[in-house]
Amino acid sequence: MSTEFDGLSALVTGGGSGIGLATATLLAERGARVACLDVNPPGEPFLGLKADVTDDASVRTAVAAAAEHFGGLDIVVNNAGIGAAGTIADNPDDEWLRVLDINVVGMVRVARAALPYLRRSSHAAIVNTCSIAATAGLPNRALYSASKGAVLSLTLAMAADHIEDGIRVNCVNPGTADTPWVGRLLDAASDPMAERAALEQRQPMGRLVSAQEIAHAIAHLASPLSSATTGTALAVDGGMQGLR
Ligand code: NAD
Repeated sequence: MSTEFDGLSALVTGGGSGIGLATATLLAERGARVACLDVNPPGEPFLGLKADVTDDASVRTAVAAAAEHFGGLDIVVNNAGIGAAGTIADNPDDEWLRVLDINVVGMVRVARAALPYLRRSSHAAIVNTCSIAATAGLPNRALYSASKGAVLSLTLAMAADHIEDGIRVNCVNPGTADTPWVGRLLDAASDPMAERAALEQRQPMGRLVSAQEIAHAIAHLASPLSSATTGTALAVDGGMQGLR
């Protein structure tokens, strides 16, 4: 059965876990050949590429390896990212720089390395994993929110800069999602059950979003069927942005 991703190749950063792994799995199910760039990459059926998005040389090597292996590159899912709790009083400068380096500059490094290949594709798309934190004013998440605010602006700027290259650039804004990352957050809470209930109640649907639901939104934006969509942010947040 043919699908819209047949013949296309994709690179998913942070593809070793959570939203990235769910996205890589879905794109592969729909016919794409998929490479996963991660500090802890998965194996078959993906092309696992061990690289750290804070290391420009390792990013360039991994992106080139994916493009060489597939004979080109059509889709980049810029998803690798980390969380950070705290108000501005809590995180020292070096923590700000570390999180911004991963969550923001990491996406720039990957997209920059992929540009020459994407320019040669007839179906080029970049999807950045942003967050509801970019626009929601979440308490105790100053650094994380600033990093995702930057991802939102970066998405719009890249969409404008590369429209004539034929590269569409969009982002997804997930609400709190049921991934290993949130599992670790809950494990660290004094009362994990109460913390989970609080996170669920924050979203109008009264539940967390699944990694698969976010993967479907990413695949939608990455698909050649979304050929007129660029410079948008798609919320996948149980109604949080629209209804609260
Ligand atoms: P996760 O921790 O399950 O997966 C993140 C993956 O990124 C891991 O495989 C990790 O090894 C990789 N990674 C981390 N730092 C890296 C680096 N420097 N270089 C290469 N790979 C690195 O997390 P997740 O919940 O799937 O989150 C993925 C993305 O979704 C992040 O950008 C995050 O900000 C965003 N997001 C998550 C949620 C949520 O509630 N889980 C909500 C909104 C946005």
